[in-house]
Amino acid sequence: MSKTAARPLRPDIAELDRPALEAALAARGFERFRARQIFGWVYRRGVVDLDAMTDLSRDLRATLAADFTLTTPVIVARERSVDGTEKFLLRLGDGRQIESVFIPDTPGMTFCISTQVGCGMACAFCLTGKMGLLRNLSAGEIAGQVRVLAGALDLGDKPFNIVLMGMGEPLHNYDETMKALRILADEHGLALPPRRVTLSTVGLLPALERLAREPIMPNLAISLHAPTDLQRGELVPINRKYGVAEIIDACKRFPLRKRSRITFEYVILAGVNDAPEDARRLARLLAGVKSKVNLIPLNSAAGIPFERPSDSVVDRFAKILAERGLTVSVRKSRGRDIRAACGQLIVEGQRKSPAQQLATLAFGTPQR
Ligand code: SF4
Repeated sequence: MSKTAARPLRPDIAELDRPALEAALAARGFERFRARQIFGWVYRRGVVDLDAMTDLSRDLRATLAADFTLTTPVIVARERSVDGTEKFLLRLGDGRQIESVFIPDTPGMTFCISTQVGCGMACAFCLTGKMGLLRNLSAGEIAGQVRVLAGALDLGDKPFNIVLMGMGEPLHNYDETMKALRILADEHGLALPPRRVTLSTVGLLPALERLAREPIMPNLAISLHAPTDLQRGELVPINRKYGVAEIIDACKRFPLRKRSRITFEYVILAGVNDAPEDARRLARLLAGVKSKVNLIPLNSAAGIPFERPSDSVVDRFAKILAERGLTVSVRKSRGRDIRAACGQLIVEGQRKSPAQQLATLAFGTPQR
């Protein structure tokens, strides 16, 4: 049985890419170019009231109202950190809730969005993984997070980046994720260039190979977290199926844009994967891969059986990589006062009020 949300019988404009919307309009006797206008209203101007699309004929607006729906995630609560990070609790059409995060200076503006409710990958350091997979998000729900955040933050025409690092494994929801990226890239809508999108994955190999052939190619981030199968298998269970060497081989074959590199994310866990020998192994593993390493000191949280290493341990690890010629960054903790460092999130207390839920929605540690 599909885990994607049940679809309403009337076509949902949020779920249609422009060619599909054109076809739906043409089938009802309207010009195809009307789809461009509708995309402009929905994605550029953030208008969701079909009757407010004033350059459409009365006839078309009546048809849209009668024959279509337009579903948009609803902001249930939002909370702003002193560092400007903002997290949004969003309610979907079926009542499920997800979280999306705005991070203001990374150095541009970035939205961290979700691709699933929960996640089936069960990474040992991730609270979202403990939820299991509740369902996939639809393309409209994935792109809808971007619409909602851009509107709520009144970004106008300012450029922003997207990281698919919220709840879920994007390649485990491949078709809807790629469809969302096509919708977001549409020149008559948000026109979000793929170079502004980063897809983070644990490395589902068949899907990674498929991604390598996509016309819309996001930046790639691999959640590696350990240099050996023995260690990684404990942290990222899917590694027992797709091992470290296979993932690195796939990365070497992955078609990269000029001057672009694959990001390898590495959550550093005290006493688990933070030893100098781990850093040396990681450097050897990544030799010959166009890479950069993003070290993510764990944000400890209740329910996660690991500790954050000291800053000096993190610095030592970074130094060993840098000495071996790797580009390394250490991820800043964001929004700690609202527990919203983008990367790992958990929804606890689904039965609590929205305000209580926000208080317990934690991006406890970066998840990738
Ligand atoms: S780290 Fe990412 S892939 Fe792993 S369980 Fe958490 S959300 Fe899923």
